[in-house]
Amino acid sequence: MKRLFLALNILTNCILAEAPVTLVLHGGAGVERARLTPEKEAACRAVLEEALRKGHAVLKAGGSSEEAVTTTIIILEDSPLFNAGRGAALTRDGTTELDASIMVGRTGLAGAVANVHGVRNPILLAQKVMLRTPHVLMTGKGAEDLARQEKLRFEAPDWFLTPGQKERLQRAKEKALPKGAYVPVPGRDLSLLMGTVGAVALDKDGHLAAGTSTGGLAGKLPGRVGDSPVIGAGTYAEDGVCAVSCTGHGEFFIRNAVAYDVAARMKYANASLNDATHTIINDKLKKLNASGGLIALDSRGNVSTPFNSEGMFHARMGPDGVAHVAIFEE
Ligand code: ASP
Repeated sequence: MKRLFLALNILTNCILAEAPVTLVLHGGAGVERARLTPEKEAACRAVLEEALRKGHAVLKAGGSSEEAVTTTIIILEDSPLFNAGRGAALTRDGTTELDASIMVGRTGLAGAVANVHGVRNPILLAQKVMLRTPHVLMTGKGAEDLARQEKLRFEAPDWFLTPGQKERLQRAKEKALPKGAYVPVPGRDLSLLMGTVGAVALDKDGHLAAGTSTGGLAGKLPGRVGDSPVIGAGTYAEDGVCAVSCTGHGEFFIRNAVAYDVAARMKYANASLNDATHTIINDKLKKLNASGGLIALDSRGNVSTPFNSEGMFHARMGPDGVAHVAIFEE
């Protein structure tokens, strides 16, 4: 009898056991090492840590991975230091066009927006597309109308424009975009053009979610859409497998279905999270001269954050509540 109780106890503990709540975020692969002053680095680290702590607190309090992802990304979007929301990179014409997406492993649902103007937190609009419409991806005016209908916050165009991004566009035009045309040369250092924010989370019930938000590549042609709002390219989440958010030269991430490729390698080739992500970033994409990185998390709380760019702002916090913030290989 005693043995039976013990066995039952172990079984119930296994069934009721909580997953190791984990949050991982990134602030993009657009790290220009030579220009990162100690003051700027400290300011960036402070915002990354704040976003990490607030997102993780949601998980600790029993909240969903979906809520943890949006909570984290809103903070990064509101910061002028990262290329998303306020502080978004500028198009060739000096305007901002915002892209974002979210995917939830529990339901398999996803929402995304591309080329939106004035919406303060595009990640919340992507979530509205997922929850309030039968669609996955909405663009431009239709997406902005939905934001108005859902009473999301708007800001004037100037609110999004930062001196840092104006200066970046100027340098981009001089250095990386020959003759003003949008032709980033693969192999050339694209750190100047890049930047994005993203988060992946595992909640106590074992559900995964992923989200990404960006202003896209600096100097992009108006109307250009990168990988960030493309489900399977810049963002993917599937319960029992992984959650992924990417940053980098978006055209390559779209052509290689990078976020889904991580999941596919795990599902069909039995690769570990680490093997899958490193093969893609450091082998496959590197051979193509495609610059960037990603953050990924599996259902057991394993984390992988590879990048082949000069740096990638990233941070993670597991069930122990210890914050790890990094920019280069550390
Ligand atoms: N992937 C983004 C884009 O291509 C930019 C970035 O992550 O740096 O729009």
